Amino acid sequence: MGKISDKQKKKKTHKQGLTHTILRMITMTEILICAIITIAGAAMIYIVTENSIRTEVTYAAQTLSDIYDMEYHGEYYMKNGSLYKGSYMLTYNDFKIKTDMIACSEDVDFTIFWDETRTFTTVKDRNNSLISGTRADPKVIENVLGMGLEYYYSRVKISDKLYAGYYIPIVNSSAQTVGMIFAGRPYDIAKKNMTTIILCFTLISGMVLAVALSVFRKFSSKLVYSLIDVRNFMENVAGGGFNGNLQLTTLSRSDEVGDIARSADTLRYNLRELVERDPLTTLLNRRSGRRAIDELIKKGTGYTASMADIDYFKKINDTYGHACGDMVLKEISALIRKQAEEKGGFVSRWGGEEFLMILPNCSIKEAEGFFEALLDEIRNHEFMWNDTRVPVTMTAGAVESRTDESPDETINRADRLLYDGKKTGRNRLVI
Ligand code: GH3
Ligand code: MG
Ligand code: MG
Repeated sequence: MGKISDKQKKKKTHKQGLTHTILRMITMTEILICAIITIAGAAMIYIVTENSIRTEVTYAAQTLSDIYDMEYHGEYYMKNGSLYKGSYMLTYNDFKIKTDMIACSEDVDFTIFWDETRTFTTVKDRNNSLISGTRADPKVIENVLGMGLEYYYSRVKISDKLYAGYYIPIVNSSAQTVGMIFAGRPYDIAKKNMTTIILCFTLISGMVLAVALSVFRKFSSKLVYSLIDVRNFMENVAGGGFNGNLQLTTLSRSDEVGDIARSADTLRYNLRELVERDPLTTLLNRRSGRRAIDELIKKGTGYTASMADIDYFKKINDTYGHACGDMVLKEISALIRKQAEEKGGFVSRWGGEEFLMILPNCSIKEAEGFFEALLDEIRNHEFMWNDTRVPVTMTAGAVESRTDESPDETINRADRLLYDGKKTGRNRLVI
């Protein structure tokens, strides 16, 4: 495996958690989305508000004009300083009653101009006095009075205040524009309402952002938890530890992380088989057999160890061929593994045709019967090769572990007894 450079190590120690990265990514995206929604929303509110003001003031001006036309037939004209329509002299009180009736909100102001001059108006100046007698804005005079056109101004200055207003020209029978009817809303009030709505909108956006982030945090923490689980698991496997387990919540995920976790688990299993087991017999190999004994010692568990070796195995190979030798090794391994595991023990292939059997928490007295029975079973087992029975026997030396010796010393004692067994005729158990 490649060594980690100092630079990488530094990066590793300074790395930020995945939760942090994901959250940062999502926060940026969500802020961007919220900003776009807020800006787009604000623009929409602005447009809608502007349009509704326009509709409102247009409607108000037209209504006032219609009401006068319906109630007083005839033309507008000025006589002795008073404004007339038909044979009726118009009054401010009458004007006030009509405009109060039309205005759906107090924010709408009205004016009737005779020529350029405000004859009746609801617009007041800073001192709260009606501005009757004042002149219309020059651009209004030019557009409405000059050209005789209805006009909407989104911004028109009236007595130091900005208005959004609609002007309708008053035209007499000889097609002359003699005055105007105006309805408008002070722009600062409209702006204030608009600002309030946009602020509310921004606030709601912010709240949605906060809720979305907290929901996402919860969701991503589950994902990150699984990823950390897989990371720890793989680190353990990389370090040669095959006993770690993945959490059930990680393994049962139906997404790609779950796939990775399941593959990691299979990888662990296959690696473990490859590293710990002998490929021919599938028994533990010598190294993992030795490690298993260390595990017992760590737990303070006593055991009986038996070193067993097939008799005259070389002769079997020579007589029936190497493949037959392999068959014998496999069958013997399966046999002794089954017996040992049933007794709560384990077997490792210690050498070519040599096996170390370990029976934890088992005295030599108890093990003696077990091993005798096992050797007997091998003696009687029918190892068949090309319709010929291959006679196979084993010799074994068995000892009980002692607390005052190392596992290697225990194994050596068993090995010496095996040697004694070989010397004294084979096909036997020596304890
Ligand atoms: P003894 O009774 O003294 O143990 O005699 P032996 O012939 O069993 O012992 P020896 O050490 O002389 O021979 C062991 C043989 O086992 C030699 C080797 O070729 C064979 N052997 C080792 N591993 C394998 C294997 O995986 N397959 C086969 N077929 N033979 C193996
Ligand atoms: Mg042998
Ligand atoms: Mg041998």
